[in-house]
Amino acid sequence: MRTTNGIKYISSNLIERAGVTHAFLSRVGGRSSAPFDTLNFDDRDTDTGENIEENNLRIRNAFEISTPVATVNQVHGKAVFLLDSSTVDTKADADAIITRMTGAAIGVLTADCVPILVLDPVRKAVAAIHAGWKGTVKLIAKETVDAMRLSFNSDAGDLVAAIGPHIGPCCYSVGAEVADEFRRSFGENPACLELSGAGAKADLGEANVSALLSAGLRRENISFEPVCTSCNNSLFFSYRKDNGRTGRQLSFIALR
Ligand SMILES: [Zn+2]
Repeated sequence: MRTTNGIKYISSNLIERAGVTHAFLSRVGGRSSAPFDTLNFDDRDTDTGENIEENNLRIRNAFEISTPVATVNQVHGKAVFLLDSSTVDTKADADAIITRMTGAAIGVLTADCVPILVLDPVRKAVAAIHAGWKGTVKLIAKETVDAMRLSFNSDAGDLVAAIGPHIGPCCYSVGAEVADEFRRSFGENPACLELSGAGAKADLGEANVSALLSAGLRRENISFEPVCTSCNNSLFFSYRKDNGRTGRQLSFIALR
């Protein structure tokens, strides 16, 4: 974990090596009060607009980002939003954003769900993906890679992907219905779904690695931060650990 201007965050060695600005932010370093303490970016609950604006300002200063971080209305679907000069003022219902716009910063909000950042170092394009269990079994990660191929002519073999902090299998027991959905999407892969007693534990991170591999990425081009948001609740917002009332951390990537 790294710290800049009091903001704690995790970065990916793979994306860093390519020199691209990005971060999986923690909950530390912002202004919001409990239960959104402190680096919250979600305005759907009762946190004030001033707090969120200040938090945005702090990260833009810390990471020298010239434009506001573009986000989407995350709906646990599999739609991918293409950010370009014609859509820059749109706030779409989607769970992934792709762009090739120079100067653009894109991000997703999570609290247990999986944030994934993708870089195409050849076509100079990026993506930010929000994958909860629903998006994960809908293969939102693969949908995003397919959208980059269609929109930017990206070759999946060139792409670099980083999977950020999310709820680990240690804390993610699921019921029979969710377990069935995992089996439908990922087969009997024990890395994605581990049977434990009468129930099962799902590994959202491994499931998304599997989705990225099926989209054509190379395993060595995927980084995985094995940090559980629920086990590390003082550092990260966790929807489960905080009993549903909490903030959302931002993960972003920016093209200069
Ligand atoms: Zn855990």
